[in-house]
Amino acid sequence: MNLERIKFQTCPNDQEEGILLTDLEEAIPETDSFGNLQYYCPNCSQTFTYCECDSDND
Ligand SMILES: [Zn+2]
Repeated sequence: MNLERIKFQTCPNDQEEGILLTDLEEAIPETDSFGNLQYYCPNCSQTFTYCECDSDND
């Protein structure tokens, strides 16, 4: 898995850049119970999930 490609996502609260949550070795991304990636937004101190089904990239 290429973590660099998915390392940042836009925060839905304030449109700032959220950072992918990973384990301490930055090898395995954190996911919720649905397998969605977890991000932390330093601007609003919130975590949010990102689902690829929301993406328009395909
Ligand atoms: Zn935010």
